[in-house]
Amino acid sequence: MKKNLLNYSKNEIPMLFESFGEPAYRAEQLFIGIYAHSYSDFPSFSNLPKSLINTLTKQFELRSFKLIREWESEEDQTTKFLWQLKDGMKIESVIIYEGQRVTFCISSQVGCPLDCKFCETGKMGLLRNLTQAEIVEQVVLMKERSKFKPTNIVFMGMGEPLLNYDAVMQAADIFSDSQGLGFSRRRISISTAGIPPRIYQMADEDRPYSLAVSINAPTQEIRKKIMPISKKYTLNQLMHSIRYYNNVTGKQVTFEYVMIKGVNVSENHARQFITLIKKIPGKINAIACNSDDTVYKAPSEEEIKNFENILLDAKQPINIRSRKGSEIQAACGQLYAANEEQGIKMVYINKDLI
Ligand code: SF4
Repeated sequence: MKKNLLNYSKNEIPMLFESFGEPAYRAEQLFIGIYAHSYSDFPSFSNLPKSLINTLTKQFELRSFKLIREWESEEDQTTKFLWQLKDGMKIESVIIYEGQRVTFCISSQVGCPLDCKFCETGKMGLLRNLTQAEIVEQVVLMKERSKFKPTNIVFMGMGEPLLNYDAVMQAADIFSDSQGLGFSRRRISISTAGIPPRIYQMADEDRPYSLAVSINAPTQEIRKKIMPISKKYTLNQLMHSIRYYNNVTGKQVTFEYVMIKGVNVSENHARQFITLIKKIPGKINAIACNSDDTVYKAPSEEEIKNFENILLDAKQPINIRSRKGSEIQAACGQLYAANEEQGIKMVYINKDLI
């Protein structure tokens, strides 16, 4: 079986070429060709010798996805993609257009083990982690198909990115490499439901990417009901890791908050939330719940307005997001790929972390 070259980091390609007896500068030519020029096959590399192109063609590939479906929502200005991976599993990715902003929302796992109650992906369970190549290929292909270079890349699609830490960080390194895809590091955002050991790790390793944490509840009691991961890591423990991250890196955090009718959007909840994040520099990103679920629904416009008005007192930048992607179910927590139809079984990994 051919190996996928998108799985190799910038440092690993020279080692590979050394084993072929090729000089190191060829590795750089290859890396630039794959990412900066978006070559999808080896014959496109006119600067590489024929013999090397033949070797690469025999042993490696640059694309592995099959596009099953691509659909657009004019109302929400989003495009959603359903990809089939080599082993038959399926994942989704989304492009969200907002004015000058083009956000690529990508997946890090097939499904997700965290089972947040308002989330469609959570209902899939975890089927497996994506490889570095599968994370990278989502961006490469969306860029190719849309002809847009993203202004932002967010790990907010299917899966919990901090449970696939190495592959996610390696992919982000390729996105931000000046000879790779060349994106601004701070515009690459890792959005997590809150895995404190990995937040400490991101801080200690001084990873240059933005961190967004889905708080979603002002108290441990409420959070436990809608985010089972809170039974393993309490809200206090999560907030401690966020403070540590901020102290060590000096970087601000984005506090994500999914507003759910009758669950977490009362005026009292807004005040409790302000108290919770007080003195931690960061911005608030609140979005109305976008679930098809009969229990977890979006609040009314009036409830959202009241909630927002109180949050404005927090004197932190605040962004209340409209339900982007609702028409084609493309927003956060709405990505779902029907893998169970193939009888694929769920797997459980990172048992120590969840
Ligand atoms: S909201 Fe995120 S972390 Fe929670 S189940 Fe969905 S994909 Fe997983």
